[in-house]
Amino acid sequence: MKLLKSKLLFAAAGIAAVVATTSLVFFLLGEADSPFEPNRSFWAKEEVEAEPPLKNDITADVAIIGGGYTGLSTAYHLKKYNPRLKVVLLEAGKVGSGASGRHGGMVLTQPPPESFEISDDSEVHRKTYEITAQNIRKMQAACRASGVDCDLVLDGVVFAIVDEEDVAEARAYAREVREMGMPIEFWDAEETEGNLGTDRYAAALYDPNGGSVHAMKLIRALKTLALRSGVVIYENSKVNEIIEGQVALLKVGAANQRVHAPKVVLATNAFTSKLGYFQFTTIPVHTQTAVTEPLTKEQLKKIGWESRLPFFDSRNALVHVVLREDNRIVIGGGYADYFFRSDLVHRGDMKRLHELTMKELLKIYPELEGIKLEHLWTGPIHMTSDESPKVGITGKYGNIHYGMAYNGQGVNMAFLFGDVIASDIVGRDHPWKSTPYYGRKSGLKGIIPPEPYRWIGAKGMMYYYENEDRRNEGAE
Ligand SMILES: Cc1cc2nc3c(=O)[nH]c(=O)nc-3n(C[C@H](O)[C@H](O)[C@H](O)COP(=O)(O)OP(=O)(O)OC[C@H]3O[C@@H](n4cnc5c(N)ncnc54)[C@H](O)[C@@H]3O)c2cc1C
Repeated sequence: MKLLKSKLLFAAAGIAAVVATTSLVFFLLGEADSPFEPNRSFWAKEEVEAEPPLKNDITADVAIIGGGYTGLSTAYHLKKYNPRLKVVLLEAGKVGSGASGRHGGMVLTQPPPESFEISDDSEVHRKTYEITAQNIRKMQAACRASGVDCDLVLDGVVFAIVDEEDVAEARAYAREVREMGMPIEFWDAEETEGNLGTDRYAAALYDPNGGSVHAMKLIRALKTLALRSGVVIYENSKVNEIIEGQVALLKVGAANQRVHAPKVVLATNAFTSKLGYFQFTTIPVHTQTAVTEPLTKEQLKKIGWESRLPFFDSRNALVHVVLREDNRIVIGGGYADYFFRSDLVHRGDMKRLHELTMKELLKIYPELEGIKLEHLWTGPIHMTSDESPKVGITGKYGNIHYGMAYNGQGVNMAFLFGDVIASDIVGRDHPWKSTPYYGRKSGLKGIIPPEPYRWIGAKGMMYYYENEDRRNEGAE
């Protein structure tokens, strides 16, 4: 017995030593130093000419890192609130080369109805909805002010429910939130089919405050506004290092040009951990979107998508679908992927993604058998374990501002967080700051372990979700 006990102790100590050594090795190894993949999306052809890279050492009042919606919106709002500020924006590639120039085009309010649960504090739920709904109108006003037609269509969005067993909960959710003043409508199967043309769904929730937008045209609009207000944008200017201080020092580009600024904004979303921030509370994950060839008049008639409302559905592998003005369908989502050491280069099988996407499309509209996906691309999204985005201030000197981790629903939120960050910097109040989501700490539950446990956990979770969807699919 004694011998068995000591053998067990010996084995346990051995396992602990292996785990500790592996953790230490990977901790020291850190993250993969990924190159920045160019934007190969359907929207990339709308890119505008790049601004010149940084060639000298400079100083600024605010240095923004990242030229997606978060960075551009921060720049735009900063100059709106204080035109005298010297604001510079540093972008590693071209503006919009991250998720903002690659997404599926859905413009969504928050919180999403995915769990059909109202957060513990119903007033917070209502307020979050109201702020994000108003923000969409501000985005519309910004597009108009820029003179760029962003193809922003705000007729609402539909959350389509796949499984019969979720219908009662969705109906109850709609009733509750309507009582709180949120204009969400419940549609039964017949009404859903009448609007979307497909009988795939058991019911739906309609939100009149969402819509769709052209990813790169929104980038163009925000870039136009930023440049017009005097923001200096440096493209092809990667920030290599941030040295914190009362006045922070950024090292930029191949020649390590120096930027000194008392305020720095991390608008780097899925790329953030590469600068050493939020490495253990966020994780970059890759997802995909595709565009079909334009539908013919006959195809459009056959599918009967009368409302042309964009929709997303209720499976784990959330699928989002938009019908564009040019009659192409944009379809995205499905299974996400994670690559070892938070690699930002997509190393998955594009052929498989193509097949999965086509399969999803034909499940919704079997009448489209034979249609071609003209273009399919991937991009990194930034996740947290509790699926809450992050905005606030960090750093030893309290001058590193951040907005990120939109968990794949960041078009509206990134524009909103740009406003929150700018408000913080100029000392204005913002209604988001009185929600519990502002400056929220992740806590122990929010910790994402280092490699190889991160990879094992992420892959395991994806495998579990994929199987659960497959099981539910089989049960239909
Ligand atoms: C395929 C796909 C589909 C999506 N579909 C939707 C959708 O339909 N609806 C929705 O709401 N959301 C969607 N999203 C998510 C949404 O696009 C993002 O949440 C949002 O665009 C994030 O904006 P951002 O500005 O924070 O990040 P990004 O747009 O990723 O911008 C970060 C920028 O920082 C730059 N950068 C990073 N590191 C450095 C550095 N060291 N130096 C200089 N620059 C740096 C990057 O090059 C990049 O341009 C989708 C995302 C993807 C990838």
